[in-house]
Amino acid sequence: MHLGNLLGALRNWVAYQHEHDAVYCVVDLHALTTAPDPAELRDNTLAAATMLLSVGIDPGRSTLFVQSAVSEHAELAWMMECTVGFGELRRMTQFKDKSDRTDFVSAGLFTYPALQASDILLYDTDLVPVGDDQRQHIELCRDIAERFNHRYGETFVVPAHVIPTAGARVMDLQNPTDKMSKSLESAGTIAVLEDPNTVTRKFKRAVTDSDNEVSYDPEAKPGVSNLLGILASATGRTPESVAEDYNQYGPLKADTADAVNELLEPIRERFRELSADPGEIARLLHVGADKARTVAATTLQRARNNVGLIPRSPT
Ligand code: AMP
Repeated sequence: MHLGNLLGALRNWVAYQHEHDAVYCVVDLHALTTAPDPAELRDNTLAAATMLLSVGIDPGRSTLFVQSAVSEHAELAWMMECTVGFGELRRMTQFKDKSDRTDFVSAGLFTYPALQASDILLYDTDLVPVGDDQRQHIELCRDIAERFNHRYGETFVVPAHVIPTAGARVMDLQNPTDKMSKSLESAGTIAVLEDPNTVTRKFKRAVTDSDNEVSYDPEAKPGVSNLLGILASATGRTPESVAEDYNQYGPLKADTADAVNELLEPIRERFRELSADPGEIARLLHVGADKARTVAATTLQRARNNVGLIPRSPT
C-alpha cells in the first residue's frame, strides 16, 4: 500500500467505522485480473489485511474479510455483468489506462467494475469512501443498481461515493501529473512500509519547478501543489494555508517528509507486531467472512428471486 491509498481511502475507512456499520474487504478476486504469482497473491492478501488492521480498522467494529471467502461476490458479479453495457465498460478510464500498459488484457480486467458493483451492492451500502480515481466506477455502480431495480423491481440500495477533500488525489513525486500508483519501488511512490530514510530521500528528490515560489496551483505547479496537498492531508490543514508558511521548496520538502514519517511510523510498527501472528489474522478474517456472508446471502437471494432464477434448494 502507498501513501495515496492511505490518504485517499484508508484513513477515511478508519474514521467511518466509528459512525457507520462498515464493511471492508481485501479484493483478492480483483487481483486475479492481472494473473499474479499464486504464492505472492496469498502473501499479499494477508499483508493487505494486516495493513488494514495496522492503520486502525477494528474488526470489533467493522466487518473485515477477504473477498474470495464470500462466494456471493462472484455469483452476483455475473448478474452485474449482464446488467452493465459493453460500451459503458469500454468508457472506463482505468481500463483504458491499464489495458494500454499490459500485453495480455484479460476479460476480467474489462469486467472489473461489475465485480466491484457486486462488492458494494451485496451489503446494501449507502456510502463508498474512495479516492477520486474511483469516482467513475462508483457512478457506474449506481447506474447498474438503478438499471437492475428498474428491470427487476427494488433490489439494491443505490450507493453514493464519498471522496475526501484533502488527499483525494496524491500524485507521483517524480511525475506529478500522474497519480501515485502501485509500483512501490519507484522513486515517485511512497510505500507505507518504506524505511524513514528512503521516504525522506524520495521527498528531497521530488520534482518541483524552477521558480521557487510556494503556492497552491495544481494546474500550473503540480509538483509543489502535490507536496502541499500531502502535508495538508497529513496534518489536517488546507493546502492553501500550508503554502503561507513557506517561501522555499527545501523546507517544504523536509517538513512534508517528516510529517509523512510521523504518520507512517506507528503503522509500520503495528504491522511488524501483527505480522508475528499470522494465525490470528487468519482467524479474524474467518470471523469477518462469516459475518459478511450472512448479509451477502440475503441480498443475493433477493437478486436471484427478482431476476427469476429458481430456488437453489426446495424451500
Ligand atoms: P487501488 O489500490 O488502486 O485499488 O486503490 C485503493 C484505494 O485507494 C481506492 O479507494 C483509491 O481511490 C485510493 N487511491 C489509490 N491511489 C490513490 C492516489 N494516488 N491518491 C488518492 N487515493 C488513491
